[in-house]
Amino acid sequence: MPGRRGSLSLTMSQQSAGQYLRHGQTPFFRTRCADVSQPGPAAYEGAQAVLLGVPWDASVTYRPGARFAPYELRRVSATIQGYHPEHELAVFERLQVMDGGNVAVPPFNAAACRELLQTEVSHILEAGAAPLLVGGDHSITLPALRAMAQTHGPLSVVHIDAHLDTSSAEVWGEPYHHGTAFRHALDEGLIARDQLFQVGIRAPWGAEDEGQFADSYGARRYGMPAVEDRGVKSIAQEILQQTQDRPVYLSLDIDGVDPAFAPGTGTPVAGGLTSREIIRFVRSLAGAKLVGMDLVEICPAMDHADITAQLGVQLLFESLALMALGSPRF
Ligand code: MN
Ligand code: MN
Repeated sequence: MPGRRGSLSLTMSQQSAGQYLRHGQTPFFRTRCADVSQPGPAAYEGAQAVLLGVPWDASVTYRPGARFAPYELRRVSATIQGYHPEHELAVFERLQVMDGGNVAVPPFNAAACRELLQTEVSHILEAGAAPLLVGGDHSITLPALRAMAQTHGPLSVVHIDAHLDTSSAEVWGEPYHHGTAFRHALDEGLIARDQLFQVGIRAPWGAEDEGQFADSYGARRYGMPAVEDRGVKSIAQEILQQTQDRPVYLSLDIDGVDPAFAPGTGTPVAGGLTSREIIRFVRSLAGAKLVGMDLVEICPAMDHADITAQLGVQLLFESLALMALGSPRF
């Protein structure tokens, strides 16, 4: 349970919907909660890493429900202990981690969601902390990268997904949804040239030239044949050689994992990574200068026995461990 919780001025005993969303309950990994009564960066004072829920799923093309993932992952994350057996470090002693609550997104307004999220990520960065966003659908990555690039400049991005997520507006007539985030991020210069690494891509494309868009920015694509033939550790090592000491943002779409291991997602695609492979992959990024990450597309209503939620919290823990390994820089 949280060590402290900031005072919240209430005019009645029940929180408003906005306050409820903003606070969250049952904090991630039993960490202390942000003092959300404080404005802007002051809410995150003392944190080096902030887990921020983004209960937004109105930008999906198939099954909705990812808005509930922050709540499910908070509940499941309470079971995670803090000592990492392979990295050999006490993650929550090395790194000051905080539950930042949720972004209180209006559930019908995608543009407002993007603006609110970009502002909140900026506040976390101004507080000197690294953001870990718990979505929500994959549209949330674009405003996150906008904020990250303002602070860090163009980033290296490691993107695990079954899908390219570089669709254009031509498919639906809508330029912003969960399949377009990386097209905008490349177009807007948020990702450095040759610094987008896409792993697990396997879903059929809408048109022959969809992969060429990312290719034109020098993106590296590691499909499932590469995962099978080379193994995830070799791929991670190659990525580390390319990113060097650049700031790295990790974007984990859970549908990069096979539906057998992650059934709780909105657009599942057969033939993906195993749980062991994605955990090994993230562990093998040790040494990367990880400055932020997101975990998206977990849909609890489609999950069974918390299979997907358990994997999700493990991936958040692995990401925190990577940050803890480099924590003196924060
Ligand atoms: Mn995606
Ligand atoms: Mn996907």
